[in-house]
Amino acid sequence: MRRPFVAGNWKMHGSRADNAQLIEALLLGLPNQPVAEIVVCPPFVYLWELSRLLKSSSIALGAQSVCAESLGAFTGEVCASMLKDVGCHYLIVGHSERRAIYKEDDSLVARKFFIGQSHGLIPILCVGETLDEREKDQTNAVVARQLNAVLDLAGIAALSNAIIAYEPVWAIGTGKNASPAQAQDVHAHIRSVVAARDAKIAAAVRIVYGGSVKAANAREIFSMPDVDGGLIGGASLKADEFLKICAAAQSH
Ligand code: PEP
Repeated sequence: MRRPFVAGNWKMHGSRADNAQLIEALLLGLPNQPVAEIVVCPPFVYLWELSRLLKSSSIALGAQSVCAESLGAFTGEVCASMLKDVGCHYLIVGHSERRAIYKEDDSLVARKFFIGQSHGLIPILCVGETLDEREKDQTNAVVARQLNAVLDLAGIAALSNAIIAYEPVWAIGTGKNASPAQAQDVHAHIRSVVAARDAKIAAAVRIVYGGSVKAANAREIFSMPDVDGGLIGGASLKADEFLKICAAAQSH
């Protein structure tokens, strides 16, 4: 039985006041010991304050990115040891906005995964195809390539302590979600790629779906056998929406 997992990617949103309000509402609305593992990923500058607000709570903290180097002359970057130092447990790598806007390729994503995990962070590895790739029937090949780049560097055992997020690029922030059946197909494929290296790890690894998940569609998507929760963008900024999504994951 895989424990459901729900993470909120706040992207470049929030303020100290907004964050405090959102967290207060989430802590009030969540059960003391939620069945699902719940994570919020705010912008870097808010991590420290949020780690204090979330101390001893049922919500864990994650970062949205990391530098692939461990320390030194990399102006503007934040390294994994710093994220760990301010109380992060999770780390998103390979988000499609990082891949598309900041030109992060598979090998850079793999290095970020590796360095984050080496510093005790649990990577949430995002994979997913563009609309063009889906239309050319390349979805399975693209997600396998993105995943294998990480497995080649970090080794299959790395997935014993990581989450995979399937995020079709065409569904992120667009209001268009993959249908439950489309999500299930790709999730099953991802699990088979992992199983080709290690069946036990494949059965245990959590694969979550991201792409316009809302309270209204979460339950149906999460009910698919290979969908273990969600990575939530826009809807994670609204306490009532995010709480309903968490509840949908718990009842899965
Ligand atoms: C995301 O940013 O990872 C995401 C899935 O965004 P949204 O839920 O807004 O589509």
